Amino acid sequence: MKNLLGGKGANLAEMSSLSIPVPPGFTITTEVCTTYNEIGRRAVIALLKEDVENAVAAIEGVMGTNFGDSENPLLLSVRSGARVSMPGMMDTVLNLGLNDESVLGLVKRTKNERFAWDSYRRFVQMYGSVVLGMKPETKEDEDPFEEIIDRLKAKRHITLDTQFAVQDLQDLVYDFKDAVKKSTGHDFPTDPWEQLWGSVVAVFNSWNGNRAIVYRKINGYPSDWGTAVNVQAMVFGNMGENSGTGVCFTRDAGTGVNEFNGEYLIDAQGEDVVAGVRTPQQITKMGSERWAKLARIEETERFEAYPSLEERMPKIYKELYAYQEQLEKHYHDMQDMEFTIQNGKLWILQTRNGKRTGAAMVKIAMDLLKEGELNEKEALLQIEPNKLDELLHPIFDTKALKRANVIAQGLPASPGAATGKIVFFADEADKFKNTILVRIETSPEDLEGMHLAKGILTARGGMTSHAAVVARGMGKCCVSGAGALKINYKKRMMTVGEQEYHEGDWISLNGSKGHIIEGKVATMEPSLSGEFGELMELSNKFTAMKVRTNADNPKDAQIARNFGAQGIGLTRTEHMFFEVDRIKAMREMILADTVKGRKLALEELLPMQRSDFEGIFEAMNGYPVTVRLLDPPLHEFVPHQLATQKELADDLHISLAAVKNKVAELQEFNPMLGHRGCRLGITYPEITEMQTRAIMEAALNLKAKGIDTKPEIMVPLVGTVAEFESQSKIIRETAEVVFAENEDKVEFTVGTMIEVPRAALIADAIAEKADFFSFGTNDLTQMTFGYSRDDAGKFLSVYLAQGILKNDPFEVLDKEGVGQLVNLATKLGRSTKPNLKIGICGEHGGEPSSVAFCHDSGMDYVSCSPYRVPIARIAAAQAAIK
Ligand code: PEP
Ligand code: MG
Repeated sequence: MKNLLGGKGANLAEMSSLSIPVPPGFTITTEVCTTYNEIGRRAVIALLKEDVENAVAAIEGVMGTNFGDSENPLLLSVRSGARVSMPGMMDTVLNLGLNDESVLGLVKRTKNERFAWDSYRRFVQMYGSVVLGMKPETKEDEDPFEEIIDRLKAKRHITLDTQFAVQDLQDLVYDFKDAVKKSTGHDFPTDPWEQLWGSVVAVFNSWNGNRAIVYRKINGYPSDWGTAVNVQAMVFGNMGENSGTGVCFTRDAGTGVNEFNGEYLIDAQGEDVVAGVRTPQQITKMGSERWAKLARIEETERFEAYPSLEERMPKIYKELYAYQEQLEKHYHDMQDMEFTIQNGKLWILQTRNGKRTGAAMVKIAMDLLKEGELNEKEALLQIEPNKLDELLHPIFDTKALKRANVIAQGLPASPGAATGKIVFFADEADKFKNTILVRIETSPEDLEGMHLAKGILTARGGMTSHAAVVARGMGKCCVSGAGALKINYKKRMMTVGEQEYHEGDWISLNGSKGHIIEGKVATMEPSLSGEFGELMELSNKFTAMKVRTNADNPKDAQIARNFGAQGIGLTRTEHMFFEVDRIKAMREMILADTVKGRKLALEELLPMQRSDFEGIFEAMNGYPVTVRLLDPPLHEFVPHQLATQKELADDLHISLAAVKNKVAELQEFNPMLGHRGCRLGITYPEITEMQTRAIMEAALNLKAKGIDTKPEIMVPLVGTVAEFESQSKIIRETAEVVFAENEDKVEFTVGTMIEVPRAALIADAIAEKADFFSFGTNDLTQMTFGYSRDDAGKFLSVYLAQGILKNDPFEVLDKEGVGQLVNLATKLGRSTKPNLKIGICGEHGGEPSSVAFCHDSGMDYVSCSPYRVPIARIAAAQAAIK
């Protein structure tokens, strides 16, 4: 139902069938949006006209009001709603149906002139911005409507919207309309039907607006989903002291703790709560007391000026509390709800599964399991694997935190630790390597910058402000509503008391406490116990595939073990030579003109490799370790700068010219398809010999210490059987020599990477010789698409923006093309050897949808970088459950 009605529309329909009070309305489906994109405005309106007119008549019947009526007008809201929630992404029009006549009807019906005219001026303003395209285009542009408001405020010597007299509001409406005429050349539409169609089409158009496109790109949602349009009767939270509006969560979206919470404002309309213009009040008494403590507000002041909804409207609170319980039980998930109180009557405007941090996601799923709301499989399926990433990020070092200078306190809007240089504009969030975006408040336009920044700090806004909600969704550290901050965009400066902080100055944010800290604060690794550990345990119950890691040193191997990796799927041995003392020996080896010279240099490298292998094998005690023979193009190791070339010439006692010559000789036109992989081991067999010796000697040394090793030697970039055989022969012969020298032996296997398309096509023949396959999907993607891994960045972003590709194929495995080769090679390989061990070690091994593909294709394991191991474990369990 969500695919057709959008998330909001489906939930509204479901709520009304649960007898929850929802304002009457109807939903235009996402399919109509797609049709609109094909056939255009006029044709789509003709298609919908009759249905929409009947639906509006039905609302009129329920509400006892008439659309456009001058006595008793029906007002509508028009909202977008995609199949997944895209907070703040799309446009909304409220109070639709007002014109110079119907506003008088509203005055009559509500006996509240001020309210009626305020609604009217809000409508003209929103309609002008959203439908008539009068939104400011750049950050320097003023909003034309805000300009008019500011001018009038200056004239009246007032500062707040609430200080406007009725006459002022009327003047605003007419001034706004003049501005519309000037900007668009047309009069503001007075016909409510014209207003309605304009808004419906504007919502359709917002699906292809920049904000929505950016959000879809970040989240990987396809552009052909479309948005639904929800049209509902308006209910008003700004009808006076007995009205209000708010947002609430059934559990804490930051921590996951099972506490009902939220914010509300008396005499306000929906946008006021999230826009951060007025400081919202807490819904529960407990929340309110906690908030007051953080804001350093005394209890008497809190109770009088900022009472909770629980204290202020106890009956409504009780009703709301019951609905939130009912809705959470119904959806078996934490809900994020919006409500309005109109003259003492509670309306629920929307409910949806709430955005949450990674930590809250884990806690909520495990709690719902314990509470019996979810079974084990459902709890696992509620985890978004990629969100676990947030839990694996560093937190502030507790010792460094003790010395930290907290300069101001805001609200703990989204937990985590962030350190960076201050920037004040979202489109400058990548101005420095690490940035903290500091804004008075954020808006949907800031989305891309928020994504780029390490943390977000706002001077205004509550726990449900745009900044807070979006940051939690992104898992980004955020402190909101830090009232002590004075921000001056023009001077690119903020002040806290007397102290000035300029663009580029370092600050740190503690999103769990709401602290703003001067300067840089050191971070440390998080501890992964409690619910996280329970979740990981749970995943083991269901997974069929093992999860290994790609690691080139003992430290990474150990981190991966701590995350539950069951072995190493790829050790890139070339990475072991990048360190300064090693690269020299490596360069000697490359520059050697004779086999003898090369062997001498390799002898220097041997002990280094051996000790690395010992460390890795030890960390993986009892688990298999796949070591891959040297792979990269050799020219990566030779110096390209004159100074280092000179240094190397001196070290080797040869001329600079000789070094330069060799560098030139090694230069390749297409290194990715050049002298690399097994081609190196075939042209320089002594490299394979040395590496095999290092592996076997390391294994024997550990065996003597009682450590169980399971080496698997892997040959890279194989495309023919003969290539594999050549390397496999050297490996086996060298191993025999080492075993004879030591009068002892270890079990080992010799396998190949499948990363050249030809290898996939002849996998049955290769499997006759190889003990195992490991898919190198980085190279396989490169060669199947014909996109150079080194150069694809130049055009892939354009491909993604134009929709030529849905995903970056180096990130998300291309199931349609590359996937066919994977499936074919698996089938062919196992036709020769039914028990052939098969895994993946390309970057895709840690990407959830690719992990699911690997499961379906029948792999034994996936291998990924250490920090992605928990993500792959959950994805593997989910694949097995589905
Ligand atoms: C691969 O090609 O997928 C692979 C793992 O090898 P590398 O990235 O080192 O080429
Ligand atoms: Mg490769």
